[in-house]
Amino acid sequence: MKIRDIQTGAISLPLAHPFKTALRTVERVEDVAVRILTDTHEVGYGEAPPTAVITGETTGSILSAIREYIRPAILGMDIEEMEEIQRRLHGCILHNTSAKAAVDMALYDLWGKRWNAPLWRLLGGAKPSFETDITISVNPVEEMVSDSLEAVRRGFHILKVKVGKEGKKDVERIAAIRRAVGPDILIRVDANQGWEPRQSVSIISAMEDRGLDIELVEQPVRAGDLEGMRYITRRVQTPILADEAVFSPEDGLKIITSGAADLINIKLMKTGGIWQALKLCAIADSFGVRCMTGCMLESKLSVSAAAHLCCGQSIITMADLDGPSLCALDPFEGGPDFREARVTMTDAPGLGITGVPVERWNS
Ligand code: MG
Repeated sequence: MKIRDIQTGAISLPLAHPFKTALRTVERVEDVAVRILTDTHEVGYGEAPPTAVITGETTGSILSAIREYIRPAILGMDIEEMEEIQRRLHGCILHNTSAKAAVDMALYDLWGKRWNAPLWRLLGGAKPSFETDITISVNPVEEMVSDSLEAVRRGFHILKVKVGKEGKKDVERIAAIRRAVGPDILIRVDANQGWEPRQSVSIISAMEDRGLDIELVEQPVRAGDLEGMRYITRRVQTPILADEAVFSPEDGLKIITSGAADLINIKLMKTGGIWQALKLCAIADSFGVRCMTGCMLESKLSVSAAAHLCCGQSIITMADLDGPSLCALDPFEGGPDFREARVTMTDAPGLGITGVPVERWNS
């Protein structure tokens, strides 16, 4: 099964509601789609969102990385030489992790097809389904409360609440949501680097003192401030989850050994795909550090790849894979069954996606 061509296209989907974090506001998913064609007439699919504020990548940079560097590096290679293909994929250009992730997942899609097995089974086969949270955007408190109630009505038991713009006021947001949804709903808080270290300790301690029962706090301070993260992690009871601070397996090792966080959020767009994500899982697993798998604003295509990783690995105990639930429509065919909170895998080979809404593919 040799790589005959690597093509790109555009996925454009409206979101049901604007997505707002401490870093940005987005209204549509506008992603780069990747399609790898083989000499045996198999097709592997991948996707990359241009998340400039996190990975530094734009639509133009993703397209250039794939066309000018990755494509020539692996064209003509056999899918069975996965190790060598991956070395070339990661060695042909630095950074550009989302571009690499899109190609990596298309390769794994083909790899599953080559061995006629669903990817999650080849990646470890830990569990056939999981429950994802859903994101509640940063908005006026009343709106966040009604969005939370709506999510619970849809069947979500885990809310990931975005904060980080207004310091101490964030405590009031969480308190209002907790009052509205009651004690049985799990609440995660994501500050997206919006706080300072001392401020974080005071906010998180206030949430603890008020008994708001927060499962974890994600990336309270700037990604580069490991000292700040360690300062917080040492002083609060609530587990701290590193997100923007961890891209590579090396980042994960540094965070874990320095005690900068208790948990790690693995996203394919940060690691550069499944190949590197597996190394990060292995490092976390060897230290007993549980992981979450998350996504950027992605459609069902790339979120499916993350779902396969999640089901493959038992060290991934938390999922923030709500991309498909945030989209206003689902034009894909096949793939895991994203039924609101519950995501269930199928036994279709590879990623299982058979239809992708791309109008034109370019070589
Ligand atoms: Mg996050």
